[in-house]
Amino acid sequence: MAFINQDFRIKDTQDKHPRLRWLLFATGCAVLGVVIASTNTGTDNLDTENLIADELNSESLPVFTENELSPATAARLSFELTLPELQAQQEIIDDLNNETPKQWREFKVKSGDNLAKLFDRAGIKPQQLDEMMKLGKDTEQLTRIYPKDTLRVLTDDDKNLLGLRYEIDHETYLMVERKDGVLEADTFKHDIETRSTHASGVIDSSLFLAGQEAGISQNLIMELAGVFGWDIDFALDIRKGDRFTVIYEEIFRNGEKIKDGNILTAEFINQGKTYQAVRYTNPENNRSEYFTPDGKSMRKAFLRSPVNFTRISSGFTTSRYHPVLHKFRSHKGVDYAAKRGTPILASGDGKVIFKGIKGGYGRTVIIQHGSKYSTLYAHLNGYQRNLRVGSKVKQGQTIAYLGSSGLATGPHLHYEFRVNGVHRNPLTVKLPISNPVPQRYLADFELTTAPILAQLGLLTRTQVALNN
Ligand SMILES: [Zn+2]
Repeated sequence: MAFINQDFRIKDTQDKHPRLRWLLFATGCAVLGVVIASTNTGTDNLDTENLIADELNSESLPVFTENELSPATAARLSFELTLPELQAQQEIIDDLNNETPKQWREFKVKSGDNLAKLFDRAGIKPQQLDEMMKLGKDTEQLTRIYPKDTLRVLTDDDKNLLGLRYEIDHETYLMVERKDGVLEADTFKHDIETRSTHASGVIDSSLFLAGQEAGISQNLIMELAGVFGWDIDFALDIRKGDRFTVIYEEIFRNGEKIKDGNILTAEFINQGKTYQAVRYTNPENNRSEYFTPDGKSMRKAFLRSPVNFTRISSGFTTSRYHPVLHKFRSHKGVDYAAKRGTPILASGDGKVIFKGIKGGYGRTVIIQHGSKYSTLYAHLNGYQRNLRVGSKVKQGQTIAYLGSSGLATGPHLHYEFRVNGVHRNPLTVKLPISNPVPQRYLADFELTTAPILAQLGLLTRTQVALNN
């Protein structure tokens, strides 16, 4: 998502402290990770300790420069680095406490690794690898190990393999055990449970910090911004006093929270305007999407063509002969030929982020749609009166008039469509669909979303009462 690079801070807030705070927090987490790694792994686990230290060295330290690191990035990195590490450490501690003391060792898969190399590092006899791989389907999983995967092995004093544990995914794990001298393998399912919880926040300086104060993860904040991203520009529209309430799932594994699940419903009040979204799964195709409480899609659609054109004078190519520049260039848009002065329409709801002369493009308008999409309109004859940078536009609204300003041989609209900053062919790009809940499912939609929307209403009323 494009707003990954935004740090969600209100533009006019001159506040360096959150940046510093997050830097300190991130560094603190990294240090904590090292301390835990070195205190809780016995002498047997030097390997693990080195690997964790290596990872901290190679990944986290270069980014701990204040100038480069946004608070969002700092927090994201610190969470990514430390939480899984802490959990892994905790599991080792649990194993150490509950199972066979001091013998389980953890090995992290490095790039270029294979099982033979890992067994070699663990000092286990190669024949025992063969023995294990002959166990069939269960251990076949081990031929597809990836860097950062973790293998835990248990050996006796003669380095015979007694046990091996591998997390296949967050729901399943492989367990190999030697019983009466014979290796056995089995795949087990963790006890996965989904619970719903809620959080509310009021924005003081940034959505990100408000989310942190509300106790929700960086990922969930990004999700929340994604749900409302078509209506609210999280880089520019956020104001002090904006508030949100979100009901979301948490995924527990064996009673311990491992990650957030989906947002079920949420409300965001931006500059006094209330937006609500609810997740609904279409019973027909099993696809989940966010809708307004009356069943309209939260995502907005695009017009395939932003102008009533007479012909397409030039298509999207990676190389073509430029009639004015007389050289080969790629053409990362579509040219629509039409009469000078033909109205040009915004192809989707969005916000004007550029209006003016842009080199060979002549008079140009760029519109941002949600967090992922932007459209560009060039060679314009003139702009719609009142159109400004920052103006919100509706799909189909006239934004400008067709012309031949800049490097153009004749009147045409040069139109570009970008997804995450990358040019895509406007004629063929898969446009986001924004169909409302189908008529035949409206009753089901209302029935299934009513309880959670009622809960959201209760929470937001309570929040308002608490804050007044
Ligand atoms: Zn063009």
